[in-house]
Amino acid sequence: MTAEILDGRALAARVLDEVADQVARRLEEGRSRPHLAAVLVGDDPASETYVRGKRRDSERVGIGSSDHRLPASATTEEVLEVVVGLNADDAVSGILVQLPLPSQVDAARVIESIDPRKDVDGLHPYNQGRLLLGEPVLAPCTPLGIMRMLDEAGVELTGRRAVVAGRSNLVGKPVALLLLGRNATVTLAHSRTTDLGAVTREADVLIVAVGKAATIVAAMVKPGATVIDVGVNRVEGRLVGDVAEDVREVAGRVSPSPGGVGPMTRAMLVSNTLLAEQLRKP
Ligand code: NAP
Repeated sequence: MTAEILDGRALAARVLDEVADQVARRLEEGRSRPHLAAVLVGDDPASETYVRGKRRDSERVGIGSSDHRLPASATTEEVLEVVVGLNADDAVSGILVQLPLPSQVDAARVIESIDPRKDVDGLHPYNQGRLLLGEPVLAPCTPLGIMRMLDEAGVELTGRRAVVAGRSNLVGKPVALLLLGRNATVTLAHSRTTDLGAVTREADVLIVAVGKAATIVAAMVKPGATVIDVGVNRVEGRLVGDVAEDVREVAGRVSPSPGGVGPMTRAMLVSNTLLAEQLRKP
């Protein structure tokens, strides 16, 4: 068996087209243009690349964007001041604080200072709490991108066994909650899980967000399962996911990394920015 490959790039392009159509319609109706403000502290090259990509996506769909830069030496108070200013700016629909922040900045305080209505990364405790209650408003982008991929591929979730490897607040926990909301029977595995393979072999849907290459190999996958590889790892100068190549011989569907969840995450960010504006200014 060779797994169907879930093409995240092609699907992300479709999501961007949908957002572009909705933004154009909004403007035709005389409503406000959504605007995404990115806060970037320091000059980490990877963060620079991410923020540039997000600006490009915004431009492509007709969303306004702005960058708010602080030096790597910035204090928590200085970052808070920028966020408070963006909260108060009526023209700003979404605020994205690029993570990781330098170690001297209190990231939790910064995230909690974002107006939850503008929290397009879905990381504010209010939005995480809504997700826990099964009433998400702005959910984190990577989990949203994963759910959209599963839906587009026609993956049945109700009554199915879903296993999520990784329990971060950014990916593992929120995607587990979204899967639960869709009536999957969900197991969360992590670094202290004993016999990970025995757990993952139960999965009809396996989401892997661990951050270690080849965490999941063919023998750990149920034949025909859908496997979503979230991991991004640099191995000998090459980007690879958490899922080994041989899984494609066993799984029914595989989302590759790179080229799977990454583009979907970016697409969901502009989608969340539009949603935030629609909710704030119907
Ligand atoms: P993270 O905060 O480092 O969390 C990693 C999780 O994996 C932790 O819960 C950890 O368990 C668990 N883990 C570590 N080793 C394990 C093992 N051997 N078996 C089972 N679980 C194990 O990472 P993250 O932010 O969730 O990101 C995970 C990966 O996804 C990274 O490679 C990241 O770059 C990638 N990512 C990609 C995107 C995208 O858009 N493509 C977005 C976000 C993240 P403990 O909790 O016990 O430590």
